[in-house]
Amino acid sequence: MEERARSCLLRHRDTLQQDIKASYLMDHMVSDNVLTHDEEEKVRAKPTRKEQAVTLIDLVLQKDNRAYISVYNALIRESYGDLASLLQPDLPLISPEAQKSFSDGGTPYVNTTLIEGGVPQRPVVFVTRPPLVNQIREKLYRLQDTTGWVTVFGMAGSGKSVLAAEAVRDEAVIKECFPGGVHWLSIGQLELPGLLVKIQSLCFRLEQTLDSSSQRPPNSIEEAKDRLRYLMLYKYPRSLLILDDIWDGAVLKAFDVQCRVLLTTRDRSLVDSVGGQRFEVHVESGLGHKKALEVLALYVNKKPEDLPDQAYSIVRECKCSPLVVSLIGALLHDFPDRWDYYLRQLKMKQFRRIRKSSSYDYEALDQAMDASITVLQEDYQELYKDFTVVKKDVKVPAKVLSIIWNLELEEVEDMLQEFVNKSLLFRDCTHRPYLYYLHDLQLDFLVEQNRSRLQELHSKVVRQYQQFYREGPPISGDQECLYWFRYLTYHMANAGLTQELYTLIFSLDWIKTKAQLMGPVSVINDYVEHGAILENSEVCKQFLEFLSVNGHHLEQKPFPDVVQLGLSQPVSSRVYQEAQLLAQQQTSSG
Ligand code: ADP
Repeated sequence: MEERARSCLLRHRDTLQQDIKASYLMDHMVSDNVLTHDEEEKVRAKPTRKEQAVTLIDLVLQKDNRAYISVYNALIRESYGDLASLLQPDLPLISPEAQKSFSDGGTPYVNTTLIEGGVPQRPVVFVTRPPLVNQIREKLYRLQDTTGWVTVFGMAGSGKSVLAAEAVRDEAVIKECFPGGVHWLSIGQLELPGLLVKIQSLCFRLEQTLDSSSQRPPNSIEEAKDRLRYLMLYKYPRSLLILDDIWDGAVLKAFDVQCRVLLTTRDRSLVDSVGGQRFEVHVESGLGHKKALEVLALYVNKKPEDLPDQAYSIVRECKCSPLVVSLIGALLHDFPDRWDYYLRQLKMKQFRRIRKSSSYDYEALDQAMDASITVLQEDYQELYKDFTVVKKDVKVPAKVLSIIWNLELEEVEDMLQEFVNKSLLFRDCTHRPYLYYLHDLQLDFLVEQNRSRLQELHSKVVRQYQQFYREGPPISGDQECLYWFRYLTYHMANAGLTQELYTLIFSLDWIKTKAQLMGPVSVINDYVEHGAILENSEVCKQFLEFLSVNGHHLEQKPFPDVVQLGLSQPVSSRVYQEAQLLAQQQTSSG
């Protein structure tokens, strides 16, 4: 192995050993003929995942360039995208594979820029769509010397997000048009308070790199817009903001700050509400027959021309939808003899949607989802149902699921890997730890399927949380902890656990920790979001007033004494009473 490659492996061995599951990689390496069966056995004989990873890396270090490249490719295929990008800069260039990956645009410079900007990686199985990518790039070039908007519009699941990410995966585009960087923000269906939280996190991300993160977060949309305008104009000139999946013109207006924006949406008319130069690219519904067949071929490891006749019918049946073809492809990967069976399944049309959105062929998606879920082991099927109650456009860390499922983290990661392999779940590798999410069409399917169980499923989440955190809520501030602070109230509200919701939301301890971790705006959001359930009661108003008046204190460092702030409220206020109770507890515990 070349010195550069070996040194790279050694530099990153700790990270690799920490994260990889050797057995996933070894299948690919054996079929690439860089690992013998004896060596595979030697690795498998180790009792723990970590020891297996250590042994595998030791073996690879003694091998040649081909082994390094094989590991790199296996990491990509198993969606360890961020680990692959660690190895990519030192891929031995003599290999045609490596040359290919560079000519795809993924140079180290591009990778670093995209990772820094949170741009998602390619799906596990990926086919290029050159005409569309070129159209988007051509429009992006129009933003070279001027601010403006490029809209990529088309039906749900047509591949818009993947195309947007692909369009910027190119050194020339970044260097010539957006040397200030590329910043990705997933939007989805948002209410305005949620939007504020999104812009806050974007500003935080942008300011963090500038080392000026001590600024307090903006606490209104107007303020956030001003902050963003300032950042884009003075700190990140000539950068590109990618807004993924916008639904609402009002949301778009918040980004109307004279910068360069690429947005994906189902609604072409949204940009009418903003000013400046506008360009658009229409993504026709599907991949096209040739590309859809290519996806199936990649899943079953064949050339497209060697696919059986049923493949053509499958592609027709699902109207070349990339999402559906990926689901069926993943099934065929595991059961390569089931062409007839899955074609029949797709044709069954047993699902009739209550709510149809545009002309998208939901039935094909429903059939494919149903088929993919049915092949899961029974206990996995049951656990997969818990995704039904994850809020749309929310990404979840494995640790949250390990609490909901009451399973070891490693076991959960294995399960999630299986869902990812079946395209039933997607993994965002730009975050550590990884975050998991469903396409919103898949979530629609789950909600339709489990409509009668929604309350029960939300309750399960709350009960599992309560069981795990019976000694007190998490305070680490990591992704898992943030999930609970953001969404526990949402689960309680939807579980009909009104009493629990009251207790939580009117607790100064909860308010204090949440404000400390996420800022006072997030706390205020809870009251706005659940105002109706809280019957906009007097107590609710008292808390809102307390937060509106003291919000700016709750942004200060060092963090103020919330009990003291509470004690400054009128004696008749529930905030005062809560503070008094806490003060008494503090005195009695010394
Ligand atoms: P949209 O943004 O239009 O809703 P996405 O871009 O999220 O759609 O794509 C939906 C899914 O379709 C992806 O998660 C992926 O599984 C699959 N997909 C999309 N584009 C491609 C592609 N070029 N190659 C392979 N699979 C794709």
